[in-house]
Amino acid sequence: MQFREEPVTPVYRHWMCEQVGCGGELLCTGEGITRLSTRWKHRCGKCGHEDWAEATYPRVAYLPVDAIGPDDSYI
Ligand SMILES: [Zn+2]
Repeated sequence: MQFREEPVTPVYRHWMCEQVGCGGELLCTGEGITRLSTRWKHRCGKCGHEDWAEATYPRVAYLPVDAIGPDDSYI
């Protein structure tokens, strides 16, 4: 049996609130709806702004070391 190892690094993804001047963080409420895909409800811990995303935040993504750069468009 052969193994191939690649270096990965955990990246903590936080969804920062988009409300001007808030600076809070959106946290998953555990409430989800599934239609074509599952969407999860998030609420800002500071101002209460609510939004939906296809992933839950905060989350940890494991990325190849060389994938980390100025483009952080990965989920
Ligand atoms: Zn907020």
